[in-house]
Amino acid sequence: MAIQSFILANWPILAFFAVHWQLSVFVQTFFLHRYGAHRMFTMSHGWERFFHLLTYVSQGSGYLSPRGYAILHRMHHAFSDTEKDPHSPIFHTNAMAMMLKTKHIYDGFAYGKVQPEPRFEGGYPEWDALDKLGQNWFARIGWGAAYVLFYMAFVQDMWLYALLPVHFIMGPVHGAIVNWGGHKYGYRNYDDVPDVSVNSLPFDFLTGGELFQNNHHKFGASVNFAARKWELDPTYPVIRVLAAVGIITLKNEQKMRYPAPAQGASEAPTAAVA
Ligand SMILES: [Zn+2]
Ligand SMILES: [Zn+2]
Repeated sequence: MAIQSFILANWPILAFFAVHWQLSVFVQTFFLHRYGAHRMFTMSHGWERFFHLLTYVSQGSGYLSPRGYAILHRMHHAFSDTEKDPHSPIFHTNAMAMMLKTKHIYDGFAYGKVQPEPRFEGGYPEWDALDKLGQNWFARIGWGAAYVLFYMAFVQDMWLYALLPVHFIMGPVHGAIVNWGGHKYGYRNYDDVPDVSVNSLPFDFLTGGELFQNNHHKFGASVNFAARKWELDPTYPVIRVLAAVGIITLKNEQKMRYPAPAQGASEAPTAAVA
């Protein structure tokens, strides 16, 4: 079998790609998004440092600082699919153009060249030394070189080298998939959400639950991104386990509900803006 022999020959590369992808997705949705940008749960200073370091190690050369991520993401919620949205597919002809504009805005905040509106600042993890290391080009090139060396040691089918650019900018690649696909391809549970957000995958194995954009824009404070019985947000069970063993403490959990309670119903939860 051709596929079998391909997997047998290249399994270290395939395993490395899968682990790098899933770890990078996990820290983005768990630490940068749900914790850093939305404060859906709390953790001790020690655990915050641990997950901040895990974010750096997981994303490597494609590291996104919690501050830069949080400011951009809070702007996205406030201005979703309007001209002030830092990344809306409706203003771009392709995902690459949107990604480059997002990078430009992110760099402005991450390197302190642009000041955000005060309401988008604060409450995210801050670790100056690590963020500086994450932005250092020698360190970035070092990570990139490590990925290349790993490939050189194990690759059997040369075309697999084409996967290397994904490793180099893993964090931004996931951001682009979510921000492009999650506002373009899929179905809507909540038509009253005033943007074009959709849910792309009923079981989001690709980006750890991030592709439930329509659900998330409706119930921005819900730690579970899935709303319907047949939807599965794979990061949510992990969060429940981390809460059960005392590593994190969930805040008053907003319940995502499908169908949504009627407008004005007294028990209707309010969607958080940030
Ligand atoms: Zn969105
Ligand atoms: Zn969000």
